[in-house]
Amino acid sequence: MRRSGNGSARSNRYRHHFSHIYVERDALAYPDTERVFRKFPHARRIVIDHYKAVFNRSNQHFQQQKASMKLILAVKRDHFLYAGSPAAPDFGHPNFFYNALMLNCLYNCDYCYLQGMYPSGNTVMFVNSEDYLAATAQKLKNGEEMYLCISYDTDLLAFEHIIPYAHRWIQFARQHPNLLIELRTKSANFNAIKTLKPVTNVILAWTLSPASITKIYEKKTPSLKARLNAIKKAMTTGWTVRLCFDPLLHVPDWQEIYTEFVEQVFTALNPEKIQDVSIGVFRMNSGYLHRIRKMREDSPVLYHPVDVVENVATYPQTVKAEMEDWVYRQVRKYLPDDRVFAL
Ligand code: SF4
Repeated sequence: MRRSGNGSARSNRYRHHFSHIYVERDALAYPDTERVFRKFPHARRIVIDHYKAVFNRSNQHFQQQKASMKLILAVKRDHFLYAGSPAAPDFGHPNFFYNALMLNCLYNCDYCYLQGMYPSGNTVMFVNSEDYLAATAQKLKNGEEMYLCISYDTDLLAFEHIIPYAHRWIQFARQHPNLLIELRTKSANFNAIKTLKPVTNVILAWTLSPASITKIYEKKTPSLKARLNAIKKAMTTGWTVRLCFDPLLHVPDWQEIYTEFVEQVFTALNPEKIQDVSIGVFRMNSGYLHRIRKMREDSPVLYHPVDVVENVATYPQTVKAEMEDWVYRQVRKYLPDDRVFAL
C-alpha cells in the first residue's frame, strides 16, 4: 500500500508521543528545531532554559513517561565524544568512542539499561549536530583511526525521519577515511537511508533476537521478520552489515529458541555478506539494575539471578559461558571463527 503525507506510517509511529515539545531558549534558532516543529505542528511548545531542568527532575516515572513521551530539544554544550565503556564491544579497535546525539529511545525493551541510567523516559534530541561533527573532525586531524558508535544510548535510525542524524554521519564518514562508524539499530527503517551510496567505513549493525523474545521483551520494536527484510535490502545495496545477538536472554527452552533463531537468520541472509556477528548475554551496570528492579516487577528478564563483577551485573559465569558457547557454535555453522565475537 502506498502511503504519503501526514497520514503515513511515519506519523503513526509517533502517534502516542510528542504532544509537548520542550525547547531550550538557545535551541530555538537552530534549523533542526524548526524542522521538528514542522513535523509536529500541533505539539504544545514550552520554552525552557536548560534541558536538565525537565529531564533530570526528581520523582519522574520512566515507564509512565515512555507511554507518552515528550520531546526535549536542546543544545549540547560539551562532551561531544565519550570513551567507550569496557562493557560494550570494541571489536578490537583501540580508539573506541561513542557520542550522545540524543537521549532515550522510541522503543521500550524490558532489559534496557536506559531505565536505570536516566531519570526520565522522555526523549532529548540535540539540535547542534555541527558541533559534534566539528569536535570529531578535530579529533581525527592527527590521522589516528577512530571507531565511533553513534547510536549507543538510543536508536537513531528509528528517529531518522525527525532529525536525519544517520544521513549526516554517513556523509561525514565519507570524508574521513580514518573514522569507522557503527550505527546500531533494531529499526526496520532502512528506507530512511536507502538513497545514500554505501560507504565502506560505516557499519550498519542490527540487533536481532528470536521472534518470541522480540514480541514479549522488545516492546515497540519491529518484528524479526521486518528487521531481516531491512537487512536484506541493506546487503543488496552494498552496505557492510553486522549482526548483534545481544543480549541473549536466559528464558525457558533457550537452547531450542536460539538454535531455531540462528537457523532462521542465516536462511534469510547470505552469511558471506555479513561482516561479523557479536554475541553477548544480558548485562548492565549493577546500580542501574538495582534502580530498575525497584521500579518494576513486571518483567522476569530483570529478575534472573546475576553476579556482579566490577559494577557489571550479568548471569553467573556458568550460565553465561553455556549460553555464549551454545550460540557461538550455532553461528559457527555459517561463519568462520574470525567473524564471530563473543563479548
Ligand atoms: S532499542 Fe536499545 S536503546 Fe532502545 S529501548 Fe531497546 S535496548 Fe534500549
